[in-house]
Amino acid sequence: LMNKPAVRLKQTTCPYCGVGCGIDVNVDGQTLTQVNGSSDHPANFGRLCVKGSSVLETNDVSGRLLQPMIGDSVVSWDEAINHVASGFQDVIEKHGPQAVALYVSGQLLTEDYYVANKLMKGYIGSANIDTNSRLCMSSAVAGYKRAFGSDTVPCNYQDLEDTDLLVLVGSNAAWTHPVLFQRMERAKQINPDMKVVVIDPRQSATSELADLHIAIKPGTDVALLNGVVNYLAEQGLLDKNYIEQHTEGFSATLESCQAWTAERVAQYCDIPLEQVSTYYQWFANSPTAITFYCMGVNQSSQGTDKCNAIINCHLASGKVGKVGSGPFSITGQPNAMGGREVGGLANMLAAHMDIENPKHRGNVQTFWRSPRIADKAGAKAVDMFEKVRNGEIKAIWVMATNPAVSLPNGNAIAEALAACPLVVVSDCNLNTDTTEWANVRLPATGWSEKDGTVTNSERRISRQRGIMPPSGEAKHDWQIICEVAQAMGFASGFRFTSPAEIFDEHARLSGYENYGSRDFDISGLAGMSEGEYDRLRPVQWPVNAQYPQGCSRMFEDGRFFTKSGKAQFVGVTAKAPVQITSEEYPLVLNSGRVRDQWHTMTRTGKAAKLTAHIAEPFVAVHPNDAERFSLTDGQVAKVTSAFGQVLLKVKLDSGQRKGELFAPMHWNKQFASQANINKLYAPVVDPISGQPELKHAAVTIEPY
Ligand code: SF4
Repeated sequence: LMNKPAVRLKQTTCPYCGVGCGIDVNVDGQTLTQVNGSSDHPANFGRLCVKGSSVLETNDVSGRLLQPMIGDSVVSWDEAINHVASGFQDVIEKHGPQAVALYVSGQLLTEDYYVANKLMKGYIGSANIDTNSRLCMSSAVAGYKRAFGSDTVPCNYQDLEDTDLLVLVGSNAAWTHPVLFQRMERAKQINPDMKVVVIDPRQSATSELADLHIAIKPGTDVALLNGVVNYLAEQGLLDKNYIEQHTEGFSATLESCQAWTAERVAQYCDIPLEQVSTYYQWFANSPTAITFYCMGVNQSSQGTDKCNAIINCHLASGKVGKVGSGPFSITGQPNAMGGREVGGLANMLAAHMDIENPKHRGNVQTFWRSPRIADKAGAKAVDMFEKVRNGEIKAIWVMATNPAVSLPNGNAIAEALAACPLVVVSDCNLNTDTTEWANVRLPATGWSEKDGTVTNSERRISRQRGIMPPSGEAKHDWQIICEVAQAMGFASGFRFTSPAEIFDEHARLSGYENYGSRDFDISGLAGMSEGEYDRLRPVQWPVNAQYPQGCSRMFEDGRFFTKSGKAQFVGVTAKAPVQITSEEYPLVLNSGRVRDQWHTMTRTGKAAKLTAHIAEPFVAVHPNDAERFSLTDGQVAKVTSAFGQVLLKVKLDSGQRKGELFAPMHWNKQFASQANINKLYAPVVDPISGQPELKHAAVTIEPY
């Protein structure tokens, strides 16, 4: 009898959303045979959504980039690495370090992100490294930093089950974060007194759970939220003790809120007065409340203000740092937060240190022993590609993302990439809308091959474990970056031989010269052996002398990371979106996601089970608008803005507000040649966070 190898069980994490579910994979020899939710992972306790449970269907080598390529020719790794290194060096010598850029991704693991950031900020000496997470949660980061003095998500997932009032703003969690939504549904079943409010212009699978769905006019969130603070003051329901002991700036903020009576809010937000009153009464009288928010808040020209308006409500009522209470931003990507930790945004340094702070810059440079350190913020995503287009940036390296589909004003992105003298793309996929413009393609390992860590939306660091050997000649992103760095002459900082070594350096840097003045500190995880790193259990940062087992909820002691230790109220004024309707473009286009697709479909598009849910790109239209624009259900329509046009199938939907359309953003050229809706959006960003306004374009529609 032949000895059949035993089926092994490997625990890893899901490659999709920011819930960060643990996945158990059965491995039979070299074949992954089955996936199940990890019953002991605190993010999901055994649950998986349809995307996570279909991950094996998207894991084959079809469509993979398996060898390095320059143009259309396969080359050796040495040739490719030297070509990239010398190309970057030439540009730096002739035009300076600001003429090169890295555009990275929340799909990278923390270790990949760490070395990319180190190369750019510490060795090249520019901060031109930004990430597609800029499109996802950078307004939430900026809001937290203004209020708490740090980029700290206070809550944890268990809080969602322990609250009396759950307010979801700009989130279709039922489709975008399904496992968390299942936890919300279950909490409501167990505690029918728990109230759910959904604030979203459109009806969705999420609003079905709501006791109260407030379909506000898009972009009016600040007025609605300012009204909460005004109502608390009017009713004598402010938490005066909390405000006095733990906050600053309340009086000025109250002044900016006082005009927002419930009546004025109802009129401004175009919603019934009784809905406003009910929301305010519930918020004011619930002992605990969570405001859970996502891209409907963040992707706005006033995204940061909206985040602070949410935080103001919680500070004014003392509903932060307590069980079942707090503002809770949710990330879209599996490792958006890990990227923030290592400084993967153009305006941050590693370990949540500030690029504008000379002491922080000194700390990082000394720790790295690097020849230089970037001393000012680099170009943020939208700005970065504009600099590529106007020739200021002459070499760009795109890693694990598809900006040709995901950034606003896609026609200009294509122009930028076409004109750029050196475009390098590291990716798993041979052909994407972005690799079309690549001079060099570098094959990167995929989900089942990559090994490292990710951090989910509740600050929980989990291991993503490499289960399979790399396909073809693919290498890990961190390896590729280190090899390019070494070829550029930066050998000393990039002699890493494993992700465990990189994680150790990251953990040590987080504790370096940190006397409790920064939130991100995982020095308690430094010094792990390779085996300990491999066995690392999911843990919520900070992990240090104060919190050796991690910390599930922040700010329980009412102390924050501001200079005074007090949270800051930030008074904000309601402003209209920048892209407003006109006679020529009389409709508002809102964008979002469908349940079974992920980002630009380069992975989920491979699974028949996932594409079966919604097979074609569509635009949801209110029946009255359909009549007004002579459209019928199922016909193809042309949607046009000042920036481009797309073709989408009309879906009549009485859950839309009149005058507003909705379309999902996923379809790339491979699946539908003219359905990239992000190209309709202007390159308008929030002035503080740099996050683009991807929820509010002015468009028109006609039968095609
Ligand atoms: Fe993956 Fe998110 Fe689904 Fe969990 S909820 S299985 S992390 S896509």
